[in-house]
Amino acid sequence: MQTPAPCEYSRATSVDDAIAQLQALGGNARILAGGYSLIPMMKLRLANPGHVIDINPLESELNYIRQEGNEIRIGALTRHVNMLESDLLSQVFPHIFREAEAVLADPVVRNRGTMGGSLCQSDPAEDLSGVVVALKGEAVLRGPGGAERVVGMEEFHLGPYMTSVQPTEMLIEVRIPTHSGFGGAHEKVERRAGDFAIVAASAALAIEGGRITFAGVACSAVGPTTLHIERAEKALVGQAPSEDLFAQCGQMAAADCSPNSDGRGPADYKRHVAGVLTTRALSRAAATAVS
Ligand SMILES: Cc1cc2nc3c(=O)[nH]c(=O)nc-3n(C[C@H](O)[C@H](O)[C@H](O)COP(=O)(O)OP(=O)(O)OC[C@H]3O[C@@H](n4cnc5c(N)ncnc54)[C@H](O)[C@@H]3O)c2cc1C
Repeated sequence: MQTPAPCEYSRATSVDDAIAQLQALGGNARILAGGYSLIPMMKLRLANPGHVIDINPLESELNYIRQEGNEIRIGALTRHVNMLESDLLSQVFPHIFREAEAVLADPVVRNRGTMGGSLCQSDPAEDLSGVVVALKGEAVLRGPGGAERVVGMEEFHLGPYMTSVQPTEMLIEVRIPTHSGFGGAHEKVERRAGDFAIVAASAALAIEGGRITFAGVACSAVGPTTLHIERAEKALVGQAPSEDLFAQCGQMAAADCSPNSDGRGPADYKRHVAGVLTTRALSRAAATAVS
């Protein structure tokens, strides 16, 4: 089995300490959260940091799910299992988080992998990124001196394994706006249980007075990043939910995605699946919307 190249290891004592260490190491360091993506990347020599800064001691600072006003705030070190089992997330965003987390990897990975690691890995096939993109979440990034910036997911995910997080910054929190009349769903096709998606679609709707007041649609594994299907979102808002409308949105997702042919299937197959899963996710999101 391959082993990572030698590197230094340190444990952070606080978020500010982790950022100070990043700054002192001048870009030659990586944050270690669950390690389920970083360590395999290091073993494959696709990532070769000279130093890893372990943030697992920061559970009390960075592992939380809470509501503040019209937002849900999720700390960067919140584990997949915490999101899977969160009553607050199930109540405010029924189905979507639980469905995505239930098909994300396996219990071993879910016990350790984190919100921050999932977003910062920027794997286009990530299930959780699809959910955050559909919900129009924002990432809170903290840098030296406590400076914080808040970025939307389009600005955050720059490409496969690339984000806008600077070498001296850390993702500390994800903020997601809440909606009344919310319904959501996550659909995934995978080769075997626990695999990354061949294609996945996440849908988030708010329906009030018989009209769609908020729409978020994201497709995973069919482009260089998690794709935000903007044309479908625009087509949905203001309309009454209907199967015809959802089928049209599925066609938009199929047309607007850009899958590659690879070991998981040919591009035209993935394009077709993106359309079917988007229609299905929207239909289930509408059926479960609570008014
Ligand atoms: C066998 C297996 C199957 C999997 N299947 C799936 C799947 O089906 N669906 C899916 O969505 N995912 C899947 N994953 C990925 C899993 O969700 C990982 O846990 C996740 O991608 C990374 O989270 P982590 O906490 O382990 O991050 P790490 O591996 O610790 O870090 C990943 C990257 O993010 C950076 N990072 C981490 N936290 C921060 C932070 N707070 N600020 C700045 N940078 C940070 C690290 O430096 C690194 O570059 C799978 C993983 C494995 C090993």
